Amino acid sequence: MTEETPQDPARRKLMGGVAGGLAAVGFAGAAHAQQSDQAAEAAPLTRMRDPQTAYPQPPFPKQQQEWPGLASEMDPVPDHGEETYRGSNRLEGRRALITGGDSGIGRAVAIAFAREGADVAINYLPAEEQDAQQVVALIEEAGRRAVAIPGDITDRDFCQDLVQRAVESLGGLDILVNNAGFQQSAPSIEDISDETFDQTMKTNIYAPFRITKAALPHLEPGASIIITASVVAEQPPENLFDYSQTKAANVIYAQVLAKQLASRGIRVNAVAPGPFWTPLQVVGGQPADAIPQFGSSTAMGRPGQPVEIAPLYVLLASAESSYSTGELFEATGG
Ligand code: NAD
Ligand code: MG
Repeated sequence: MTEETPQDPARRKLMGGVAGGLAAVGFAGAAHAQQSDQAAEAAPLTRMRDPQTAYPQPPFPKQQQEWPGLASEMDPVPDHGEETYRGSNRLEGRRALITGGDSGIGRAVAIAFAREGADVAINYLPAEEQDAQQVVALIEEAGRRAVAIPGDITDRDFCQDLVQRAVESLGGLDILVNNAGFQQSAPSIEDISDETFDQTMKTNIYAPFRITKAALPHLEPGASIIITASVVAEQPPENLFDYSQTKAANVIYAQVLAKQLASRGIRVNAVAPGPFWTPLQVVGGQPADAIPQFGSSTAMGRPGQPVEIAPLYVLLASAESSYSTGELFEATGG
């Protein structure tokens, strides 16, 4: 997708097209179409502005959803860059697979990658089809190929299938983003069932291991692997006993794999988000009564919106960051 000014008629048409596509998959039709018309005027992400007030601030309405949740049902709806992310061909012709690409951070990364010129396959759970179809529409509106591959990554065989289908549909693979995650808050180790512990480990540690192994034979020099870790890897809160262990494991994943794969010309990095406004948090990732003040303890005084972290993934996926590997890149709000 080429750069467009907010006044560009092509962009107006594009945004109208997105709204039309989204309405067709059950998005809040008229309201969103109106929002998108306004968005045609929206200033780009790069506009200078005060980061404290650039995005919604606490308090937020109290809310809970059934796991895995939908971004479209959050209040306020998270900002994944639908209206503001402008690409400049930094990933032209690349082929990317993003797990958890339907919502939250993964969705913002999928939109950014597509607008930077990449074809994108997203994985998500079947229950998230509605969110996923919105992402598919946005990738296609950017003029890129979108591949939707629903399925459960705690299933070993599915991890193999996922990579195979992504490679076949995209004609290869250059970028792997291990981003799907499972997080449940619990006050004590005694409140964590064996099943929940297992699901946290299988989603956050086993799946990246299996997906990466399946992907490696397809990756060539210049390829980039990114894993979404977390600030909790270094500052674990008392209510995230199992989850914090897995995020520390994600950091080690990047550090060790980077050493193994440097000689193959493949870079591996981890991203550590602080508190981001995504479904993960309103499906049990935080205690329900913590949602209204979510993100308020950061220096910025608010949670991050997914669009604010997508540029880090673009940088790590791009050949521009060719000397960065085995690193941890943070976006924590201070
Ligand atoms: P999210 O709910 O939008 O994304 C998580 C995604 O994981 C879901 O959309 C779902 O598609 C996927 N997923 C979970 N279990 C799965 C399974 N068994 N099979 C297939 N897909 C599955 O929330 P998010 O916050 O964008 O999460 C993305 C990543 O960011 C996660 O790894 C999370 O640990 C990490 N993270 C989030 C925050 C935050 O504050 N939101 C902070 C630090 C790290
Ligand atoms: Mg989701």
